[in-house]
Amino acid sequence: MKLNKEKKTELRGRPQIVATNKLFYFLLGLCGIIAVGAWLFLRYSAYPQFDKLQEQQYSIRIYDRDGEIIQITSLEDGMRREYTPLENIPVEVQKIFILSEDRRFYLHNGVDYFAALNAFSQNYSSKRIVRGASTIPMQLAKICEADSELTFRRKLSNMYNAYRIEARLSKKKILELYLNSVPFGMNACGVTTAARSFFGKELNQLTTEEILCLSVIPRRPASYNPVNNPKECAEMAALIAEKTNYINCDFEQIYAVAQTAFNYHYPFYMPHYISWLKKSQPELFQNYELHLPCSLKVQRESESFLRDALEQATNSRIYNGALLLLDNNDGSVLAWIGNADWFDSKNSGQIDGVLTKNQPGSSMKPFLYALAFDTLDDNGQPLYYPSKIIPDIPQEFGNTNIYIPGNFNNRFNGPVRTRIALASSLNIPAVSILNELGVNFYLEKLYELGFESLKKNGKEADLGLALGAGEVSLYELTRAFSVFVRDGKDFSGNQIYSPDAARLICSILSDKGARSLGFGYSQTFQTDYPSIFKTGTSNQYQNITALGATNHYTIGVWMGNFKGQTVIGKTGSSLPAWIAKSTLDYLEKNNSSAGKNDSAVSFKEPEGWTKKKICSLSGLAATDDCPASVYEYVKNDFDLPECTWHKHIGTGKGKSSNEIQVTYPAEYQQWVRQNKISTIINYNSSPLELLTPKNGSVFFASNVKAIEQAIPVELIGGSTDVLSYTYDKHPSQTVSRPFVFKLPVEKGRHKCVFVCGEEKVTVEFVVK
Ligand SMILES: [Zn+2]
Repeated sequence: MKLNKEKKTELRGRPQIVATNKLFYFLLGLCGIIAVGAWLFLRYSAYPQFDKLQEQQYSIRIYDRDGEIIQITSLEDGMRREYTPLENIPVEVQKIFILSEDRRFYLHNGVDYFAALNAFSQNYSSKRIVRGASTIPMQLAKICEADSELTFRRKLSNMYNAYRIEARLSKKKILELYLNSVPFGMNACGVTTAARSFFGKELNQLTTEEILCLSVIPRRPASYNPVNNPKECAEMAALIAEKTNYINCDFEQIYAVAQTAFNYHYPFYMPHYISWLKKSQPELFQNYELHLPCSLKVQRESESFLRDALEQATNSRIYNGALLLLDNNDGSVLAWIGNADWFDSKNSGQIDGVLTKNQPGSSMKPFLYALAFDTLDDNGQPLYYPSKIIPDIPQEFGNTNIYIPGNFNNRFNGPVRTRIALASSLNIPAVSILNELGVNFYLEKLYELGFESLKKNGKEADLGLALGAGEVSLYELTRAFSVFVRDGKDFSGNQIYSPDAARLICSILSDKGARSLGFGYSQTFQTDYPSIFKTGTSNQYQNITALGATNHYTIGVWMGNFKGQTVIGKTGSSLPAWIAKSTLDYLEKNNSSAGKNDSAVSFKEPEGWTKKKICSLSGLAATDDCPASVYEYVKNDFDLPECTWHKHIGTGKGKSSNEIQVTYPAEYQQWVRQNKISTIINYNSSPLELLTPKNGSVFFASNVKAIEQAIPVELIGGSTDVLSYTYDKHPSQTVSRPFVFKLPVEKGRHKCVFVCGEEKVTVEFVVK
């Protein structure tokens, strides 16, 4: 009370009568000193609770690119409190709240004695507190306090603190802080949040009646909540309206509006994306509003595709799915589904499938092939190119780890063009490319592409990297996949692959014909616009991944289950691709129907390459003898030799197909024999090579059926058609082509020497 008196002294201390008397000046000076001292005390005395209020957290309004609300974040205590600067709070809202709560707000200095006396007498006569007469600064002082007990002592303390607040802030700032902090119950603080919570409106959309209803709620939120008590609310609001002549609303009008109040359901879209943003880019959440480039329209559309797919796949143990859709211009996220349902705790709905790490399987292969296209041999020519033939035959790779990778279709295709090997996702060609390039060289490229996860488990995966054995996230995978439709550039502008390598990959991954070896002529990837797709299935728990891209968008879809259970059957295997395609269909259709003249254009042609007619079997320049030919990109400065595999034989003048003799290179000998392909093997082209047994092999002899057991031997190449061999101390023997025979099984260490012309190969093995 003492301080209040001092404050009054300050108010009354202005000299109005000019006096000449010294005492008067002395007293005047004294009063001035006391007044200034009092003000300094009020202004600068420690008031940590108020400091805290001024630094309080606000909810963040997060909007999508169309201005639709994605989320209004709730604060740690479950409250929502949005901030609106005073200049954006409609004047009518300011006026009505002042009228309702503190009508002499602009006239007093913190405490309204007229109202206080009035209230005091009422309270005194009824022996309890029936009326607050709290001014707006007093209410702010009350908000600062943790407990909200109503005692005279607290009231006095609020009055003192109201002076302190008045000394610290301008009237405008006080009003702004009040309108943004005042509690309305229902976890809503501040007028902006109240407008939304009770009427589902933005502040500037409120009608006078609605503002009146809101203005009475803070008095007693439980009693005047218009949702529960529209009548009480309207009655009180009508009393406010009567206080002034500029509002022309009667009770009936207000009551009608109060009855329209409802509990607004706060949107909660893209929860996984928002939590990822909060962690990865916390600086975005410093403001009161956040405008994101994503699209809720697209998000909802792709969510419905994912839900449909999950419904079809429940019998396959596919319970989880994730999707990431990127804008190719800048990599901004258009849609991010971490899981089908955030609230589905049974299936770990809050785990974000975009960020979890899974084996991507074959969806990694394009990254390897692009690197192979960019790697040059000693002559400065690409080590690999679309027409190059890669053997798809059983092979062993590596020294310590032996891979015998089978194909998706469990079939070996013999000589295949690089284009077909990638488009049909054949395994052995991919492993042999990686074997040639080197695991570390490939890993460096993968790090450059942003596969941070592989820094942990990439080396371990070794040659299995070619088949997508290292674990990566859908986030990493989708971003990396976008480089192909971005001419080899990542979103930071780094040139990861040459533009031509990227364009060749686009040409291959959009090639419907080339896919057929692996996938048949599936409709899954058929689009009316240029698109590329790549799918992958992991070896172990069979997660299924699909990647797709057009010139505008890149999409990644993952399906499987977080429990790591093996997915049953193949029913689900095409679902991710279907989701990816359906989403791209939706986007590209909307692009063209919006008349943007922005529909996906064809992928660019590689600049240093020209389409030439090649033999579809040998990949060499097609001759008249080649029964089938295709057009394929050949590097401009590369002199493609003529096909030597097909020869027209016989004396007949006609060239029907049965007169064409096919001659395969020696390495296909075993494959040709196993597949009973009628052909000639070109033995003279290669050095003598032992295919089996490998040096240092260990065989385990069985005690049963000992007679039928034998060590299979197979050699290819060599300069003559006769091979002689010496097995341990047995007499030397000779065989003629093909060099395929068996050695008897005897336990112990063995040595065999093969001689063909000038060449000699020695092998040692053990039979246990
Ligand atoms: Zn040919």
